[in-house]
Amino acid sequence: MRNRVLITGGAGFLGSHLCERLLKEGNDVICADNLFTGSKDNIRHLMGNPYFEFIRHDVTNPLFVEVDQIYNLACPASPVHYQYNPIKTTKTSVYGAMNMLGLAKRTGARILQASTSEVYGDPEIHPQPEHYRGCVNPIGIRSCYDEGKRVAETLFFDYHRQHKVDIKVMRIFNTYGPRMNPNDGRVVSNFIVQALKGHPITIYGDGHQTRSFCYVDDLVEGMIKLMESREGFTGPVNMGNPEEFTIKELATQVIAMTGTKSEIVYKPLPGDDPMQRKPVITLAREELLWEPTIELKEGLKKTIEYFKQFV
Ligand code: NAD
Ligand code: UDP
Repeated sequence: MRNRVLITGGAGFLGSHLCERLLKEGNDVICADNLFTGSKDNIRHLMGNPYFEFIRHDVTNPLFVEVDQIYNLACPASPVHYQYNPIKTTKTSVYGAMNMLGLAKRTGARILQASTSEVYGDPEIHPQPEHYRGCVNPIGIRSCYDEGKRVAETLFFDYHRQHKVDIKVMRIFNTYGPRMNPNDGRVVSNFIVQALKGHPITIYGDGHQTRSFCYVDDLVEGMIKLMESREGFTGPVNMGNPEEFTIKELATQVIAMTGTKSEIVYKPLPGDDPMQRKPVITLAREELLWEPTIELKEGLKKTIEYFKQFV
């Protein structure tokens, strides 16, 4: 059956891959995006498809469309961009969730929230299972994003309990791949662009902090599996690659794979930067039969290839 699917943030990094995949599977896709961090270039190749529509829309305003499924991805994801206008970031998460949940309530659509590992803050438990409630600073520079996403989860579960809205909540851990914005300051895109340009590789802090990096194709596969999962399974469910690396190891890997002469330089660690992060993905494995299949080296190879056009 051809589902009518709304993807907010569909012109962004993850959203554009999701639009592409859902169109390939024969769905009717509406992409709503205000193009803050996303770009028409990410979806240009989809524009001629009669089953694809782009709407320039800000999710802090209500949207009236008739759809069967909603993927709510609209929100800047990189620290540089979400801290650019932090009040707007919280509005996007909170008003955006309310508007999209209202739409789901009216249309009866199933709705998936792109939540984040940031709901765990700087975690005291390692690795992080879904039942861990997190350690989040409510007044720091990352709070607009972390707390915004936490309130969005609250709204999802309250609309589910109060209005029986059919919800799915996904906690995404660091994901990378082609179509990341080259200027968005996230670590994978930064290191690759710096290496390709022969500029210094900027490690914040001593580089011992860890992250677990998931390739975009794996993540999109998991996102669709969650949307299609059995009725009543709401999550929250962690999705990410449980292989953990220090930021220093990532820098070394990018240097080796690009063959760059760039040197590593150390810069101050930004406030509230989590020291470690790695998902427990047992729930996704058992409930969705999902796990990542693409190793860091393989994913980096494809991502490096993509970024060559920007240097
Ligand atoms: P991205 O910045 O590339 O995409 C976000 C998209 O949302 C952009 O196209 C942007 O223009 C759009 N947007 C922002 N504010 C909007 C608004 N008010 N109205 C309409 N559109 C708006 O980032 P991404 O990595 O593709 O992230 C997509 C979603 O996944 C985000 O909600 C993010 O919080 C979540 N997420 C991503 C990661 C990751 O590692 N990539 C990790 C955790 C969570
Ligand atoms: N980081 C870094 N150099 C950079 C960009 C980021 O060392 O040029 C570090 C950052 O301090 C953090 C990690 O890499 O510890 C991941 O940062 P990113 O912004 O990609 O995501 P997040 O902190 O939200 O996981």
